[in-house]
Amino acid sequence: MQPTSQRRAILITGANKGIGYATVEKIVSEPTPYDIILTSRDTKLGEEAVKTLQAKYPKSTSTLAYHQLDVNDDKSADELVAWLKGNNKKIDVLINNAGIAIPNGDDNQKKLVVKTNFFSVAKLNEKLIPFLTEDGKTLQVSSILGTLQVQGETLRKALSDPSLTESKLHDIANDIIEATSDFKPWGPAKDPIYPASKALLNAYVRYFLPSKLKVTQQVYAVHPGWVQSDMGGGNAPQTLEEGADTLVYLTNLPFVVNAELNAKLIGDRKLMEF
Ligand code: NDP
Repeated sequence: MQPTSQRRAILITGANKGIGYATVEKIVSEPTPYDIILTSRDTKLGEEAVKTLQAKYPKSTSTLAYHQLDVNDDKSADELVAWLKGNNKKIDVLINNAGIAIPNGDDNQKKLVVKTNFFSVAKLNEKLIPFLTEDGKTLQVSSILGTLQVQGETLRKALSDPSLTESKLHDIANDIIEATSDFKPWGPAKDPIYPASKALLNAYVRYFLPSKLKVTQQVYAVHPGWVQSDMGGGNAPQTLEEGADTLVYLTNLPFVVNAELNAKLIGDRKLMEF
């Protein structure tokens, strides 16, 4: 095992199942050693995930630690921050994976989707960027459904407006029902809210998150594919392992700023149009 000082650390959200879990599994099954902090909102499910992976890969060169994190709960995020501080932890790769979709939800459920997939991700970045190493990366799990081509004209125009500010982005997010009123079904997306939540996230990654990072740090938005998770459903064409592929690929890329990929949307290891 490499000495601690040479090992890179990963913190991943929503990793008790689905693409997050598959990403951790792929990393612990491969030879490159990492110190992984797996988080989940449900402590029991997260600790079980860690135990299952440790039992399945007893010879893994990576280590697994667990901490609870509900991305929508400020107290939970603050406890994670205190634990990171108290244990002198640094993060080389922050993977914001946790997300939800509630098709045809009521107004409260619509707000919850936007909170989980956009507001809480932005808030968590602010809280965890101070722990990012000088050449660290942040990976924000987005979706092709968040691309501008999928959105209705009102949201597309608002997010493409050259005078967009972070404060205006928050206003659009707070008014998302109105901003998505002219949405037209696109492929599997019949409901506008999940696509809109990821479009807000994409705009944040494209325009506002880079300025919060050092020039030596990077951010990627990632489309994992349409994947057979609880969210993606059994008819999705890609396996969980395939869904983890681009996330693991970007994690393993050298820790130097990749001007081609930085602050862009990446799917299937390639650049995609925002
Ligand atoms: P799953 O529903 O299988 O997993 C979602 C994960 O997010 C679970 O661990 C869930 O925890 C967690 N989560 C949800 N809300 C919170 C919260 N408030 N705090 C902490 N964790 C939370 O979905 P996927 O694995 O498919 O989704 C992972 C990411 O990939 C999401 O961001 C999703 O939008 C994105 N994505 C998925 C696609 C697909 O086809 N599956 C396509 C494109 C993007 P719990 O078990 O407690 O609910």
